[in-house]
Amino acid sequence: MSEITIILPDGSQKQLPQGATGKTLAESIGAGLAKAAIAITLNDEVRDLNTPLPDHVKVRIITAKDPEALDVLRHSSAHILAQAVQTLFPQAKIGNGPPIETGFYYDFEIPNHKLTPEDLEKIEAEMARIISEGQVFQRYEVTDVDAKLQEFMAAGEKYKAQNLNQYRNDHPTLYYCVDPNSQKPVWQDFCKGPHLPDTSFIKAFKLLSLAGAYWHGDEKNEMLQRVYATSFFDKKELDAFLQQREEAEKRDHRRIGKQLDLFSIEDEVGPGLILWHPNLAVIREEIENYWRKEHRKRGYDLVYCPHIAKKDLWNISGHTSFYMENMFPLEVDGQDYILKPMNCPFHVLIYKSQLRSYRDLPLRLGELGTVYRYEKSGVMHGMTRVRGFTQDDAHLFCRPDQLTEEISGIIKFIDDTLKLFNMTFEVELSTRPEKYVGELAIWDKAEQGLKEALDLYGLTYEINEGDGAFYGPKIDFKLKDAIGRTWQCATVQLDFNLPERFGLKYQDSDGSHKVPVMLHRVIFGSMERFAGTLIEHFSGAFPTWLSPLQVMILPISDRHVEQAKIYAAALLEEEVRAKVDERNEGIGHKIRDAQLEKHPYMLILGDKELESNTVSVRSRSRGDLGSLPFEAFQTQLLQEIKSHGQKEITIAEPAKA
Ligand SMILES: [Zn+2]
Ligand SMILES: [Zn+2]
Repeated sequence: MSEITIILPDGSQKQLPQGATGKTLAESIGAGLAKAAIAITLNDEVRDLNTPLPDHVKVRIITAKDPEALDVLRHSSAHILAQAVQTLFPQAKIGNGPPIETGFYYDFEIPNHKLTPEDLEKIEAEMARIISEGQVFQRYEVTDVDAKLQEFMAAGEKYKAQNLNQYRNDHPTLYYCVDPNSQKPVWQDFCKGPHLPDTSFIKAFKLLSLAGAYWHGDEKNEMLQRVYATSFFDKKELDAFLQQREEAEKRDHRRIGKQLDLFSIEDEVGPGLILWHPNLAVIREEIENYWRKEHRKRGYDLVYCPHIAKKDLWNISGHTSFYMENMFPLEVDGQDYILKPMNCPFHVLIYKSQLRSYRDLPLRLGELGTVYRYEKSGVMHGMTRVRGFTQDDAHLFCRPDQLTEEISGIIKFIDDTLKLFNMTFEVELSTRPEKYVGELAIWDKAEQGLKEALDLYGLTYEINEGDGAFYGPKIDFKLKDAIGRTWQCATVQLDFNLPERFGLKYQDSDGSHKVPVMLHRVIFGSMERFAGTLIEHFSGAFPTWLSPLQVMILPISDRHVEQAKIYAAALLEEEVRAKVDERNEGIGHKIRDAQLEKHPYMLILGDKELESNTVSVRSRSRGDLGSLPFEAFQTQLLQEIKSHGQKEITIAEPAKA
């Protein structure tokens, strides 16, 4: 009997009988693996476990622990969801049901019925029943597409038929759910897989929510009913997911944004365009003040540039050839303009406005530059996915021999800044891809410089080999927030392309003209997304230095208001944001409101405090701190603000027993 040779991930080879599948391979390695195996990769493409293995292919066995496993599980779970819905609602027609980051969904058309939360419970019960049967997923290649189309149309499955017809020349496949007892298919879907061997691998699932969704995302099409769900290989993972989801919902910046009057998005303005209300504007102002001061300290020059530029500029930069669909074009006096999607070309032209000598370098140009990028309306999300945003952008121009030092400086800057917000982060370095511009020696030097700088500051990082842009390697910083989610934030990007395109030069010590190295850099990324991240990270309870209102003074009755106003004025004089709650409400009520509004400090003022010239201090997070003279409170508060929260207000002993 002839044999085939397959190549294992460690490079070793294995002989297997002709006709062997992934399952045969797993069994030949060990019983434990045979039990845990759920799929394979054939030359890095995920396939069903029982796929027959061709000769001389790279094969890897996927178990629940592998990153690809979750998609296979969720894709399979989606079939079970659809089968359950069609069992309970025989009139239901199915649309698409892909896996997504948080789980999976399925779209249905259900004539004369709108799914309710109670339906979801029934569907879950039916899914549990199907899963317990251990139905087998079986792949079937469609040979007679027209016959299958007719069958789908006769069953009223017009969406499935549309899909099949669209892929009719791509070797379309169906997947059957097969009853293990009768060996008969009980359900089928047009699908290219791959799937689990059988439903018993689905150990934990949950239906999450209902929504409306247009067929193929097009509002001219039918509106279908979407069921969102998730599944895991392990009940504990599901519980952790549900808990994080609940926590994330509580922290949702759109919800807190409304509660604390931070921002809004108005129909009249347009989607993805943020109105910063006074409370959030204060936070931005604090961050910008810090940002400007630090840039000056670190040798940057700050600039301002317009919001539009002639289309010609974007031709030179190359954006019109690969970025046009993300840009907002304008026409003025018969001249084409574009709303700027990036600040880089402007800074490049400032560099180019005079002849630069090697002694002028590095030149570091920074700008809080507002840019506009077209995003589809379906993908926009609060402040984190928008069409207009302000980048805390900087471009550095240096000589090759200055590169390592410049990169170190940027990384220290990013590290120092993100620490202010009590956020940890993950770092990824993306290196030279196969197709690249620029000189190999400079690429090597740049990548070496990026690594050295990361090592210097003790930052651990992941290397994405070959994942850099064609014009330069880059470092990405991903913030980890208080509940462990990651957010895109700072980037350091080298650019060997724009200096060439714009013909940038500097005069070296020997009089010759050379091309400078250019770096793009953001720390927060976008002020909008960063603010959204901060709202969720702090759950709206911003540290004192950032809080829209830092001290709320609460007079117990009318006769304490006058002194409260004197204190408020004294705090304002020191640039502390303070206010008096003069409402005619009980003190309990006032404290509760201040607490809900998440002000870091409350000063309570009554007869006792007036007599002893003290204030009773209440902290948002630590409760009643006792009382102390107003001046002592003010001194400590200023220290806390100035140190960005490194020093908190403490009261050693109450002023009065
Ligand atoms: Zn499928
Ligand atoms: Zn740039």
